Amino acid sequence: MTYHIENGRVVTPEGCELNVAHHCNLGCASCSHLSPVFTRSFVAPETAAHDLSLLAKSFRAQFVKVLGGEPLLHRELVTILGSVRASGIAPRIVVCTNGVLLPRMREDFWAAVDEVEISVYPGKEIPEEKMARIRELAADHGVTLTLLHYSHFRYSYSEFGTGDERLVRRIYSTCQIAHVWRCHTVFEGHFFKCPQSVFLPRVLDDVADPWEDALEITDDPGFADRLLAYLRSPEPLRACRNCLGSAGRLMPHEQRTRRDFRLPQRHPTEDLTDRAFLELLDRTPDADDGCAVDSATEWRSRLSGTAAGPASASTTHHTPEGT
Ligand code: SF4
Repeated sequence: MTYHIENGRVVTPEGCELNVAHHCNLGCASCSHLSPVFTRSFVAPETAAHDLSLLAKSFRAQFVKVLGGEPLLHRELVTILGSVRASGIAPRIVVCTNGVLLPRMREDFWAAVDEVEISVYPGKEIPEEKMARIRELAADHGVTLTLLHYSHFRYSYSEFGTGDERLVRRIYSTCQIAHVWRCHTVFEGHFFKCPQSVFLPRVLDDVADPWEDALEITDDPGFADRLLAYLRSPEPLRACRNCLGSAGRLMPHEQRTRRDFRLPQRHPTEDLTDRAFLELLDRTPDADDGCAVDSATEWRSRLSGTAAGPASASTTHHTPEGT
């Protein structure tokens, strides 16, 4: 299923995303939102409310993912969740969090969401007694709780990028973020195809226009058609020259400081690309990227090295080069 127009609105089979806090309380290496380099910065509730209600006139999603950075750092998160609901842009609200602050969330938070997706990282697990209370609150409010356990990340971008246009086109055309998961992002009155095209130009030093990849959200009658054309465009974004899309080399998950976050990406795109996985993506666009598992038992086995890791997963044939 792809995009279509229904009652004058572009309908996506997936969701759209709202980054409410750009910074994070963790520092995951190669975080695709580059959150570790951002200092405290929050979206204003009025901006979120305005952007979503305007976009809702021309766009319909199956869900809105509220994330960051770490969204639970936002003190007015419940107000924002109320605005997402009021906009009518999607029937479901999903909050994606690392879970560290989840035990502190009050009943009004649980009453405002439909699903909480917890990304669990090594050494940052929620203690079991706190998880029991979280499960109870979720059940009381009919909230779906999803846990994804990350053992690995893929390099998300290159500081130097590439001048190889064919490689850029391949990375774009196989990009699961844009074409499979469709992580379209609303940011300051603009619609971006992916979060990377929001954040890469705001961190890299050589980008003249940080809005180049975006479509301004407007109220005019032609906006839905422009949005559909933008979403269907086969042309890579400016940010794809530095982004690795889904094809970055696989690496064990680790935490980094703000100061050293950018260092591992100081290589050309060619050196940070997992060529074997890129070939797999050419044939299997929704191939498992090998980063997360649902099962905590499998995750622990992967981390302790007692289970076959993603690099040898039989379905995906990941071959990280030199990780
Ligand atoms: S910048 Fe390009 S390659 Fe990166 S996530 Fe966006 S569309 Fe995909």
